[in-house]
Amino acid sequence: MKISKIEHLGIAVTSIEEALPYYENVLGFKCYNIETVEEQKVRTAFLKVGDTKIELLEPTCPDSTIAKFIENRGQGIHHIAYKVEDGVNNALSECDSKGIRLIDKATRGGAEGLQIAFLHPKATQGVLTELCEE
Ligand code: ZN
Repeated sequence: MKISKIEHLGIAVTSIEEALPYYENVLGFKCYNIETVEEQKVRTAFLKVGDTKIELLEPTCPDSTIAKFIENRGQGIHHIAYKVEDGVNNALSECDSKGIRLIDKATRGGAEGLQIAFLHPKATQGVLTELCEE
């Protein structure tokens, strides 16, 4: 597969409203988009950092995977997302053939109109890994 850059870092927060002042007033980033991804039970806020982004993830209900993540590990880095240039489905096939456990067998719609798929953290040296394409 051909990965061109880190598309974004996903950070789990209990409240976007409580987290934003730190990112905007201290680090000086600008939040340019907040959207809810119903299917993932998450509300997301995006901030640009140079050529990449921070994605804040807030659970929309207690059975959201983000709620469970925060319950188990507290707020913090949740996943890393790589931009794939030659197709996420191709990358998934390649990972599958190399014995990497997949969470998603095919791409699905994510925030910002991206097509995304996750690799299992048990197969990726402990880091939940998202592959995405525009
Ligand atoms: Zn993400």
